[in-house]
Amino acid sequence: MTAKVIDGKAFAAGVRAQVATAVAKLKEEQGITPGLAVVLVGEDPASKVYVRNKHASTVEVGMNSYEHRLEASTSEADLLALVARLNADPAVHGILVQLPLPGHLNSDLVINAIDPAKDVDGFHISNVGLLGTGQKSMVPCTPLGCLMMLRDHHGSLAGLNAVVVGRSNIVGKPMAQLLLGDSCTVTIAHSRTKDLAAVCRGADILVAAVGRPEMITGDFVKPGATVIDVGINRIERDGKGRLVGDVHYASAAAVAGAITPVPGGVGPMTIACLLANTLTACCRAHGLEEPKGLTA
Ligand code: NDP
Repeated sequence: MTAKVIDGKAFAAGVRAQVATAVAKLKEEQGITPGLAVVLVGEDPASKVYVRNKHASTVEVGMNSYEHRLEASTSEADLLALVARLNADPAVHGILVQLPLPGHLNSDLVINAIDPAKDVDGFHISNVGLLGTGQKSMVPCTPLGCLMMLRDHHGSLAGLNAVVVGRSNIVGKPMAQLLLGDSCTVTIAHSRTKDLAAVCRGADILVAAVGRPEMITGDFVKPGATVIDVGINRIERDGKGRLVGDVHYASAAAVAGAITPVPGGVGPMTIACLLANTLTACCRAHGLEEPKGLTA
């Protein structure tokens, strides 16, 4: 079997186009422009690239982008004061504090200071609780992107066996909650799981969010399964830097029914879903109908 490639790049372009159309309509009919504020503390090179990309994508769909770059030595009090100002600013519908924060800052405290209605990353404890209890929330962008691609590929997910490898708060756990919300039978695997390959072979949907390059090989995959590779790992191969997933693509694609590549799979969906969440937050803030298909 050769797996169908789920083209996240094309899918994300479609989501961004849908967001752009909705933004244009909001501006024309309501005179409202959604605004996303991104806060970057310090000089982490990867974070700087992410923030630059987020800014460019935000502007591209017609939203306002407000960037706040703070010194690495910024105090917690100053950061919390900025978050409070953004919470109170009606032009700002979404707030994202880029993680990781420098070590002297308490990430949980800062994230939980964001107004949950503006928490477009979906990391605030209120949003975590709302998602866990099946209520309307802001949903973390990466798992939301995975869910959208899975729904598009399968239609209904009800009754499918899903295995999520990884139990982080930002990917694994919310991914499992979303799959449960769509009536999958969900298993969460992690570093202490016994016979991981056998557990994974029970999956109709296998989501890898491990952070270990190419760990999930073809012998972890049930024939015909859908494999979603969340991993982004930079490795050296043949003297060149390369980006690979948590899934060994060639061996998994030989067994799977469908698979996301790295790059060009889940990655592009993350920013597209950030834009979708900002639009959703804006619509909710103004009591307007939410765009269809862009939320869980
Ligand atoms: P974390 O490091 O926070 O979590 C990794 C999880 O994998 C942990 O739950 C850990 O288990 C589990 N794990 C580690 N080793 C093994 C193993 N040998 N067998 C089974 N489980 C294992 O990572 P994240 O969730 O933040 O990210 C996961 C991957 O997704 C990374 O490659 C990251 O770069 C990528 N990522 C991609 C994004 C995108 O936009 N596409 C966004 C966010 C992340 P335990 O809890 O027991 O330690």
